[in-house]
Amino acid sequence: MTSRVLLDHGSGGRASQRLIADLFLKYFGNPVLDQLDDAACISMPGEVAVSTDTFTVDPLFFPGGDIGSLAIHGTVNDVAMLGANPKYLTVACILEEGLSLECLEQIVLSMSRSAEKAGVKIVTGDTKVVPKGAVDKIFINTTGLGIIGKRPFPQGHRANEGDAVLINGPVGDHGLTVLTCREGLSFETPVKSDSAPLNGLLLQLIEDIPDIHVLRDPTRGGLATTLNEIADQSQKSCLINEDALAISPEVREGCSLLGLDPLYLANEGKFVSILPEEWAHKALEIMRNHEFGRQAKLIGRIGVDNPGRVTLKTAIGGYRILNMLEGEQLPRIC
Ligand code: MG
Repeated sequence: MTSRVLLDHGSGGRASQRLIADLFLKYFGNPVLDQLDDAACISMPGEVAVSTDTFTVDPLFFPGGDIGSLAIHGTVNDVAMLGANPKYLTVACILEEGLSLECLEQIVLSMSRSAEKAGVKIVTGDTKVVPKGAVDKIFINTTGLGIIGKRPFPQGHRANEGDAVLINGPVGDHGLTVLTCREGLSFETPVKSDSAPLNGLLLQLIEDIPDIHVLRDPTRGGLATTLNEIADQSQKSCLINEDALAISPEVREGCSLLGLDPLYLANEGKFVSILPEEWAHKALEIMRNHEFGRQAKLIGRIGVDNPGRVTLKTAIGGYRILNMLEGEQLPRIC
């Protein structure tokens, strides 16, 4: 038995079958996946939310997560941002020849644990192996399917004048963690990714708040970019208070040393919710009672002056326009 991924493992022949049986089915197995037909048969009532994402993070393992957990959380969270309940996932892996099977097993195990925690089943998948150098170790694509619960569901264009802007915790942790881990930097207080499945908390919010106008996860491009997308889609403005924003001391320290702005750093366990002001208090209460929302805050308001503009009211009372992220601040962060 080899201890590394070989081109043969992607051939579709006996070695592929062994890899599927000994690794993927061992950890992902369920009655739907175990059929091993060309396609999976699932049934879903009503309207369905679908999202797909490809994960290329470097390094593969970092404090707070790895490419496997990220590939589950990222897609589960995107499906949940439509107020949907994620049920099924597809997983496709592109493996580099020579990747150690032990490393692959760790990733597959992590995916299986994360899927279980998020309450989703992996129903179909694919594995390809490419020659050494054609990809960097492993890239993973996941597609998620979820049932939409309520209409109207949250969408970017629905942000409305006077709406409150909430976030479930501090920003910048994931982006800074991956970057410092990749560059081999360390700080006095170590940083840790916030990667988490948000569907449980979001389902509670959707159930208890009559109409959440927008839900979105500030992943690549960070909070500033996400708010710009929403301001653009809704043709409203957004004013954020720096005073209200939570940024952990370690992220603040790391960002000031590296000259980074935490408002533009990726998050993998955060969501922005925009809803009628009168429901802000209740929403904060629900979030703060959940493990992924303990530090939830009201950070700003939606307005109608300057459609498409996001402004930060600074701690000393000045105003700064937050533009969309220009160029790639940090490649391969997710
Ligand atoms: Mg998203």
